[in-house]
Amino acid sequence: MHSKTEHRPVVLAIGGHDPGGGAGIQADIEAIGANGCHPATAITCLTVQDSCNVSQLIPLAAEHLTAQCKAVLDDCSVSAIKIGLLGSSQAADGVIRLLRASPQIPVILDPVLAAGGGSELVSEQLLDKIREELLPLCRLITPNTVEAARLSAGGSSAGLDRHAEILLQLGCGSVLITGTHDESDPNRVINRLYRADKQTMIRQYPRLPGEYHGSGCTLAAALAASIGRGQSLENATQTALDYSWNCLQKGYRTGRCQSIPNRWFETLSNNSR
Ligand code: PLP
Repeated sequence: MHSKTEHRPVVLAIGGHDPGGGAGIQADIEAIGANGCHPATAITCLTVQDSCNVSQLIPLAAEHLTAQCKAVLDDCSVSAIKIGLLGSSQAADGVIRLLRASPQIPVILDPVLAAGGGSELVSEQLLDKIREELLPLCRLITPNTVEAARLSAGGSSAGLDRHAEILLQLGCGSVLITGTHDESDPNRVINRLYRADKQTMIRQYPRLPGEYHGSGCTLAAALAASIGRGQSLENATQTALDYSWNCLQKGYRTGRCQSIPNRWFETLSNNSR
């Protein structure tokens, strides 16, 4: 019998499938569920990858992607949409059309441009589309420092404040630039939230050793869930950064290269049965 009393906001995650379960849709499902929402999913592309790198990206036809999104949007009251790897500029076109038709739903974009192992995951055409047409539809985007420099085309010497300013001018509501890729401080990771009204929030965490696969997905999905549950942008950012840091700190290895964030660290631990 289903419970009519428990309210679970629905978060729609749009992204690619990683068969290793580190990044992409599986990361989204785990992080959205762990943060109190129901994950609905639409697959943009399949990938062939292991914990080291992505070797193949297989986009789904755009019409099949939009049909998945429409099935969820027409049936459920969706509280937030999280977007990760888009896979093709045709997929982006379809998603952009749907977002324009549902302007009331907050959109959180993790601008996935390259795999942790280095493989390029966007074409120049898709990058332009994200910059010019998708960013203006987003409540929040969560680039790392490398993605912020590429997306803003501001040049790596321009500095993070300038990159954020350019991204805000492109039309997104706010920008959270994560600091894991900025290794200028060996002990700390500094994350910066920029808002259109220029207020900023800075949160620092101890830098953890090693590399993790799906940390960006985890953060953006946790943010979408927290925003979907009605938290303010600042509270959602705090919740999602704390959650993601804990996932990484309690992460584990399944393969030869990058570790997997432990997105279920608050459920049964491996040894507690
Ligand atoms: N989504 C998919 C399907 C991916 O393959 C990747 C990276 O390879 C990502 C998202 C982004 O992963 P991360 O969160 O490690 O940046």
